[in-house]
Amino acid sequence: MTGPAIAREDLASLLKWYVDNGIDETIGEEAVDRFAAPPPAAAANAPAPAIELRNTAPTPIRPATPFPARAPVPLESPQLVEDARELARRCVTIADLETAIRAFEGCAIKRTAKHTVFADGVAGAPVMVVGEAPGADEDRLGKPFVGVSGQLMDRMFDAIGMSRERDLYITNILFWRPPGNRTPTLAEQAICLAFTRRHIELAKPKVLVLAGGTAAKAVLDTTEGIMRMRGKWTSVRLDDGSEVPTLPTFHPAYLLRTPASKRQSWLDLLALDKKLKELGGR
Ligand code: URA
Repeated sequence: MTGPAIAREDLASLLKWYVDNGIDETIGEEAVDRFAAPPPAAAANAPAPAIELRNTAPTPIRPATPFPARAPVPLESPQLVEDARELARRCVTIADLETAIRAFEGCAIKRTAKHTVFADGVAGAPVMVVGEAPGADEDRLGKPFVGVSGQLMDRMFDAIGMSRERDLYITNILFWRPPGNRTPTLAEQAICLAFTRRHIELAKPKVLVLAGGTAAKAVLDTTEGIMRMRGKWTSVRLDDGSEVPTLPTFHPAYLLRTPASKRQSWLDLLALDKKLKELGGR
């Protein structure tokens, strides 16, 4: 790389500024100057962006785990994950699972949360949305995605004619709000994920939507970032042998901070609508 030498501490403070602003992932080798005007000839010859998603061939479902797998998480207490798995395995209905989660004392964040936030919408709906963790509003009201980001999510689904009263079943990886809304630790994710995977098996959605990087990485067990995963169909293989077509997409809280990314989320919604039609879910 050419250009003026930049002092180490200036680079460090620039990196910190990026991270503070939510830019925590590189998506290419070279920086792209999006303010630079394209050369006139290149601009004239550029093909129109191909964003038409309707009436095309069925979207292929990728084989399971197409993204780089995570290394096993070294847990302080692997027994808690085993306990959660065993409890979840014994549940034969969603109501059993809810009771088991409400009674579970193996996740410390339960102690600082007001409510166990289990699910909202219609159990058995064609689309199941899995987010990260309850925020302050969800903790106060005991329902997932009821704060500003949830309201944006409702409006987005409404734009393709779907609602939580009819078409959606909504939950999170975590059932309790992490204090101060911090990112859940890998141990907390691993414990709650045991229940969430069973939740998906019991709800049997036609399609799973993973909202945001934390949910996508946890459910798909990958280190891949959401910038690369979003919009790419994959599938989740569950412990009962079933597979669910799965679409990672941006978290609505990210869209509130980065409205320009709504265009990509709109494409994801259109792809979801198309997939459901192919699967006879609409
Ligand atoms: N963010 C989430 O991931 N889930 C919620 O329920 C609310 C905000």
